[in-house]
Amino acid sequence: MSTKAIRIHAHGGPEVLRWEDMPTPEPGPGEALVHHEAVGLNYIDIYFRAGLYKIPHLPAILGLEGAGVVRAVGEGVTEVAVGDRVAYAGGPIGAYATERVIAADRLVKLPDSIDFATGAAMMLQGMTAQYLIRRTYRVQSGETVLVHAAAGGVGLILCQWAKHLGVRVIGVVSTEAKAELARAHGADHVVVGHQNLAAEVRRITDGAMVPVVYDGVGKDTFLPSLDCLAPLGLMVSYGNASGPVPPVEVGMLAAKGSLFLTRPTLATYTARREDLVAVANDLFAVVASGAVNIRVNQTFPLAEAAAAQEALEARRTTGSTVLIP
Ligand code: NDP
Repeated sequence: MSTKAIRIHAHGGPEVLRWEDMPTPEPGPGEALVHHEAVGLNYIDIYFRAGLYKIPHLPAILGLEGAGVVRAVGEGVTEVAVGDRVAYAGGPIGAYATERVIAADRLVKLPDSIDFATGAAMMLQGMTAQYLIRRTYRVQSGETVLVHAAAGGVGLILCQWAKHLGVRVIGVVSTEAKAELARAHGADHVVVGHQNLAAEVRRITDGAMVPVVYDGVGKDTFLPSLDCLAPLGLMVSYGNASGPVPPVEVGMLAAKGSLFLTRPTLATYTARREDLVAVANDLFAVVASGAVNIRVNQTFPLAEAAAAQEALEARRTTGSTVLIP
């Protein structure tokens, strides 16, 4: 049996992605073999490809998210069985493949009402949105929050989920077309570009500013984001789409109003299986109820993952993107 996979042999641009044949792996104790029906594309895939996030051994298969059917299980597996529809998000990398082996305790059963493409699109970005607004900073009805890259994968989910919870969202995007999309998914106000961001937030909030900023853009927006926070506000720096945030002078947090700063990861928030299942179930519930609509706005063949990554990096995508094996 053979598997097709996108592997990299060296870090670099999209050209390092290679579509290769490999032997189909066999599940060891506690593991399951998943046949992918769809694979999720995420910005973190670009960090791993480029070398911003380290890969211990090359060559390696990229990708952290997929949905499909369990084909085989190893000894001692209790969480899933052969034939189950499943989905997952999170390490280790290895999702850009027709099949993969993964620890069974990282899999969740995909509800019948959710198709594979939606499942592969929503797990990483949706579980991230869940922990950001339910745990990192538990938003309250009536509050106003700031969301960067509001028309992106995590962004469109955050906008809809926050709106569903009665929260007023100020989104930040780079184009008018993205502004329109963010508004259609719950953003009450959208700022195009971050040049005058603090002034815009001051105007929209009548000077109150916001208690939390969700910033996955990183380098370009870190300082403008701090200026949007109310005293004692929380800066949630959860990604680096524009590059990593430079070292922070801690005293700056005092000068700007006793601010808090966190750099959270999905891995921490779903490290225990009970947390993973709770986060996934919360996500499945808002998707099933229609409160959050997962927008799969781009689909590429898995073999063309390089083109998909190029589009994501060039800011040409909106919502979520899936790769079909
Ligand atoms: P997105 O779909 O949001 O794509 C990234 C977006 O970032 C772009 O569309 C663009 O929107 C914006 N952006 C701003 N500056 C740049 C730039 N210089 N280059 C490229 N894009 C830029 O991606 P995801 O939804 O997959 O991820 C969003 C962020 O969340 C990423 O930083 C990702 O790493 C992070 N993340 C973090 C997790 C965690 O647990 N910590 C988990 C999941 C995601 P615009 O054109 O509107 O500016």
